[in-house]
Amino acid sequence: MGDYWRDAENMVQPGRIKVPYTWQAGETASHYLTRLRDEKKILGKHCPKCDKVLVPPRKNCPFCSVPTGGWVELSGKGTVDTYTVVRKDFPIQPMKAPFAYALIKLDGADTGFLHMLGEVDLKNVKEGMRVEAVFAAERTGSPLDIAYFRPMR
Ligand SMILES: [Zn+2]
Repeated sequence: MGDYWRDAENMVQPGRIKVPYTWQAGETASHYLTRLRDEKKILGKHCPKCDKVLVPPRKNCPFCSVPTGGWVELSGKGTVDTYTVVRKDFPIQPMKAPFAYALIKLDGADTGFLHMLGEVDLKNVKEGMRVEAVFAAERTGSPLDIAYFRPMR
């Protein structure tokens, strides 16, 4: 190492790695996404052991690890369990800031469903707020086939 290092500051530079990838959704998520895309239906799965309805559906119950049983169709209406407001834009975000992410307990479900809120004044978002799903006009078989949840009218 030469003398030039003695007076140099140890520098740290920002970088960015972009890693595009695809993944096999599997039978449970594929069925869920197909019904969401083609019929605007939000489906959950029922666990025969703990009696919970899981949304998004899971092949195995995360609470008791047994294979889940039957499909349960949900209304698309629910209650905001908790939320956070995003005030800074990041390329990965599905909406332009400011917007809110909410953990929504869909009616008939036992797990929280993470999605965005739309058509809402962010000052009025609160826990316990009743919301309903708004489907995207063009659906592609993605979780974003639900565009967002809006306050029930
Ligand atoms: Zn279970």
